[in-house]
Amino acid sequence: MELTDSVDKLPGVGPAVAKLLQRLKVRTISDLIHYYPRRYDDYSNVIPIAKLHPGSVTVRGVIKQITGRYVRRGLHITEAVASDETGSIRLVWFNQPYRASQFKKDSEYYFSGDYQLSNRRFSILNPASEQVSSFPVNTARIVPIYKETKGLTSHKIRSIIKATLPYIRDLPESLPDWMVDEQSLLSYSQSIEQIHFPASSDKLKQATKRLGFDEVVELTLAALLNKQTIKHDASLAIAFDKKLATTFVSKLPFELTDDQRRAVWQIYQDMQAVSPMNRLLEGDVGSGKTVVAAMSALMVLKQGLQVALMAPTEILARQHYQTIAKLLQPLGLDHTVGLLVGSQKGKEKSLMHQRIESGEVKFIIGTHALIAEKVTMHKLGLVIIDEQHRFGVDERKKLLAKAGHAPHTLIMTATPIPRSLALTLFGDLDISLLKSKPKNRKAIKTELVPPSSRPKIIDIIKKAVINGHQVYIVCPLVDESAVVPAVSAEKLYEQLHTRDLKGLRVGLLHGQMPSDDKERVMSEFANAKLDVLVCTTVIEVGVDVPNASIMMIESPERFGLAQLHQLRGRIGRSDIQSYCYVMMSDAHAPSQRLRAFTQTQDGFKLSEYDLHLRGPGAIYGTSQHGELDLTFTRLTDVKAISNAREYAQRFIDKGCKLVQYPVLNERVSKLRAVTNLN
Ligand code: ADP
Ligand code: MG
Repeated sequence: MELTDSVDKLPGVGPAVAKLLQRLKVRTISDLIHYYPRRYDDYSNVIPIAKLHPGSVTVRGVIKQITGRYVRRGLHITEAVASDETGSIRLVWFNQPYRASQFKKDSEYYFSGDYQLSNRRFSILNPASEQVSSFPVNTARIVPIYKETKGLTSHKIRSIIKATLPYIRDLPESLPDWMVDEQSLLSYSQSIEQIHFPASSDKLKQATKRLGFDEVVELTLAALLNKQTIKHDASLAIAFDKKLATTFVSKLPFELTDDQRRAVWQIYQDMQAVSPMNRLLEGDVGSGKTVVAAMSALMVLKQGLQVALMAPTEILARQHYQTIAKLLQPLGLDHTVGLLVGSQKGKEKSLMHQRIESGEVKFIIGTHALIAEKVTMHKLGLVIIDEQHRFGVDERKKLLAKAGHAPHTLIMTATPIPRSLALTLFGDLDISLLKSKPKNRKAIKTELVPPSSRPKIIDIIKKAVINGHQVYIVCPLVDESAVVPAVSAEKLYEQLHTRDLKGLRVGLLHGQMPSDDKERVMSEFANAKLDVLVCTTVIEVGVDVPNASIMMIESPERFGLAQLHQLRGRIGRSDIQSYCYVMMSDAHAPSQRLRAFTQTQDGFKLSEYDLHLRGPGAIYGTSQHGELDLTFTRLTDVKAISNAREYAQRFIDKGCKLVQYPVLNERVSKLRAVTNLN
């Protein structure tokens, strides 16, 4: 039998079970081997009955007596007495009538479960049981708990995975021996066995460490190799025109920050080479990435080549279109900027397609509409992707493919991640950081507000509007839902514009509105024709209305930390003092997450906190989920990550060849396909 064989080749796995396993995306024996536990219960301590203490316990004994009965309709109780040489203990099972006939007389069993008071007697409730053997899987050990599906419990999954142990023990080593030796790692096959059936918590730790090491080494190798290949691609070198750059800067309404300057400089350097630029511009919300993008595009346009900028939402694409046209106006380049979004009507759209194809439009700004088949770029020199974490790899690739050669790429993200981590996750990219915000910014004051203080906040909003400022009110839902008790945008809008904020110009914006309406409302707000915008998370990314200085967030418990931070990033975009009010719902005491949110504005700190809470999901583009999961790597363990990265680098430096390590090779190749941008 082979690892690629279907699971139903395993003893004890029939077509029915195979079908259930399919629901868990497990088809082959190999899938099963890599179906890792989500967590563990520690029942490893086998305790003499006389010495039991309340808690998770395992005893080893024989069943002395056992009876089952219905105490009332729908409640069946099985009671048993088990003994070892030190004493006896009561076992109780609820609604498991088969228990009464399950045990062989005089055979020894392990019983694992919670030892506690029940009906004034100490008992083990609903214990797992298993005949004593040298390799128990459900009791008397650290027991793996898997993600289950209806009809397939962890209990069953354990027995199926136990059947793969002969394969697991035969798994070849994936890493070079020198790495395993130097780091004193468990062998690959031992690690996999220990992950499923740990012999001790120490062994489990070692296995986790080893598999985490593998993940980072593989990801780093993929990135390093991709980087090498990219270097061999030919791109169009972009000449640097100092005068043009100086003129652009002199026409800006503000002075660039040092970080912006450095980023632009790095980008210009990169683009002068014939190998394509592959750069990540990482900067917290409001750090001023757009102007860096515009300035990067400048040189490319000057050379008569096209630039494409893709943004995740239409609102954002339209805003970029306006901002960038304005920035390029003093140089007479604004007429070369064009907008392409999904909601454009047939004629308008096909005209834009033509203008792009003919090269009349040089700076193409848009949404996913840019990657539509109909779009033919003329001579694409630079691709810019804004808010990259919102895109999947496929979408980025499709855009790059429009060039027909390897264009320079600038990827922008506001997902602030620690540098060591960024290097691992985006290892094939060079990184420019915008750490400092524009000088004029004041820290946003963030406050948790109890429901009783709502009238006070409404007053503050009114005063701010009188002083000429604008306000966002963010809700999690579009319309009233019976299921989830959260404030809806539509309901709140009704209430505010007819009552609490009567007399102010209040607008409503949410994702389900027709595109024309969205555009109208957004531009009214941007042009200060609305004072207050009641909205959903449609404004989460990118929206830039510097005059908005107050944000009130409703039902904050419905938002993730990163999302809250992105939302708050809509204010504090000028020298006006900004305030963020987090409205507590009655039902929720402030969580740790919300408290963290009010206490810091440092996106890097918050994202680190988020990583602790939620894992790497927040960082990847959606379509990368699953393919790039770092299951065993603690993303906050910078030391372990750097260490593994070094080994990957040494692998390359030593001139090791992947083909000599087939398992590693296969995995790295897969990762390269997922992470490669070109
Ligand atoms: P983000 O990094 O979130 O994309 P934006 O590019 O939207 O940030 O910039 C946020 C705001 O800051 C914009 O209104 C922009 O005009 C302004 N801005 C950018 N750079 C500077 C600067 N150096 N000084 C002052 N304001 C700036
Ligand atoms: Mg932005």
